Amino acid sequence: MTNYTIPATQKAAVISKAGGTVEIKTDHPVRAQKDLLPGECLVKLDCSGACHTDLHAAAGDWPIPAKLPLIGGHEGVGTVVAIGDNTTNSPVKLGDRVGIKWLADSCLNCEQCRKGREQNCDQAKLSGFTVDGTFQEYVVSYVNHVTLIPEGIPSDEAASVLCAGVTVYRAIKHSQTEAGDWIVLPGAGGGLGHLAVQYARVRGLRVIAVDTGADKKELCLKLGADKWIDFKETKDLVGEIKAITGGAGAHSAVVTSASATGYTQAVDYLRPGGTLMAVGLPGDAKLEASIFWTVLKNVSVIGSYVGNRQDAREAIDIAARGQVKVHFATRPLSELKDVYEGMKEGKIAGRIVLDMSKQ
Ligand code: NAD
Ligand code: ZN
Repeated sequence: MTNYTIPATQKAAVISKAGGTVEIKTDHPVRAQKDLLPGECLVKLDCSGACHTDLHAAAGDWPIPAKLPLIGGHEGVGTVVAIGDNTTNSPVKLGDRVGIKWLADSCLNCEQCRKGREQNCDQAKLSGFTVDGTFQEYVVSYVNHVTLIPEGIPSDEAASVLCAGVTVYRAIKHSQTEAGDWIVLPGAGGGLGHLAVQYARVRGLRVIAVDTGADKKELCLKLGADKWIDFKETKDLVGEIKAITGGAGAHSAVVTSASATGYTQAVDYLRPGGTLMAVGLPGDAKLEASIFWTVLKNVSVIGSYVGNRQDAREAIDIAARGQVKVHFATRPLSELKDVYEGMKEGKIAGRIVLDMSKQ
């Protein structure tokens, strides 16, 4: 068995108070092997994607608070370098390359876990929210929930599949659509959205990408979107979507915008029997929709929260086969604050991946 040398301290991006700024520490402690509990493992990270959820956690703009002090991050890929003593039946071993997703752990025995809704387990641990996440060189995670990364996909290409990919993969899977159907993707140029364009194409759906700016337009069309609508330029979103879909409206919408405006009018542009998948997480907004038309049109409104272990496997396998590719730029961990600024301003097309080996 390989033995890894594990340092006592490491580089980590720490937030000390809600709404506070990220501070890069170079002497943050690494958990020693002897201090790992049964079921825990230590993963030496190659990289981590930065998700808009990390920005919500850092800003403290959700109805539920994150732990403090907090190390954010939940799209990590790295190597298992230690496993807690007395861990039984571990599905991973030392040296395995694994991914860390938002759902770091769950009990696997409660009704929600048994039904495959592991993310709704009462004992769920959330990476970068209720437990420290992947914006550090070494992260403590859980053998039962880390995702084995198939060979052939580089770590930086795999990272953002762990949250952005898994989340939109599951949402599209539950969108009650069939090959040939029209799906509207508000937020299509962002981290989740640009992967939604591709997972939708894998399922044979026709995609109407909705976002703003020349970069995001180019990206969405390059990734296979059939149509593009700039939400800042259009004067009639509903009219445009109806015109594209032959007058009837779209079969589904998967909303991944971080603001409530992405949800506006979705019930109006869906055709009868259509499905609205709620994914983007503005903290204080209400879903504004006509009850009358939701009923008369038989519209389904479904919330979709990340994915379980199986969703993660399926999403990463599709990416490893090259059918979905994360569009990303790499930056060092020390630039996380700038990444958050870019995200706030809506400037990032696709994703930023933080490379732990970069200074
Ligand atoms: P992002 O910032 O990369 O992308 C959001 C995109 O939405 C941006 O491109 C932005 O221009 C676009 N947008 C904003 N307003 C819009 C509008 N009115 N119409 C169309 N597009 C609009 O963010 P991300 O990392 O993709 O995350 C998006 C949201 O999803 C966040 O709120 C995040 O917390 C949430 N999220 C939810 C889950 C889940 O399990 N449901 C998982 C991960 C992230
Ligand atoms: Zn995320």
